[in-house]
Amino acid sequence: MAIFTFASTMLKQLFSKPVTTKYPAEPIQYPEGSRGHIDIDIQDCIRCGLCMMSCPTGAIKVDKAKNTWTINRFDCIQCGYCTQCCPKKCLHINPGYQTPGDKKYSITEEHILTEEEKQKAAEAEAKKKAAIAAAMAKKAAEAEAKKSE
Ligand code: SF4
Ligand code: SF4
Repeated sequence: MAIFTFASTMLKQLFSKPVTTKYPAEPIQYPEGSRGHIDIDIQDCIRCGLCMMSCPTGAIKVDKAKNTWTINRFDCIQCGYCTQCCPKKCLHINPGYQTPGDKKYSITEEHILTEEEKQKAAEAEAKKKAAIAAAMAKKAAEAEAKKSE
């Protein structure tokens, strides 16, 4: 009896398509809904930091001063919270995993400021400096007035 089962299984397998794929010779097809990795459209990022604050594993770091967005892929659990909270919708979960490696590393993307953004930043900085100078001058004047009383 066992020999018939074996023969029928063998014949079936001989004439059916293989269940394996020819990866890496052929690109892998990820099943629908599979979780992959986070990508960013860095030029759309406004460095608000909401993704960093919402990430449950602390995988994202946003540096507003340096205009950078960094992800440690080994810490990311592909939960997708960051993609949901991003006000600019510039984070996406894309299929595919990272190339296997022997080291933990993070990936940093830098937002390159446009001329308009540079001008806005310079204006904001100048405004801030002027406000500080005005506040200091006011304080000095108040101190001077107190002294003369
Ligand atoms: S998918 Fe989840 S774990 Fe990964 S970076 Fe976004 S919030 Fe963090
Ligand atoms: S939430 Fe979006 S816009 Fe804000 S820092 Fe993260 S990626 Fe950039």
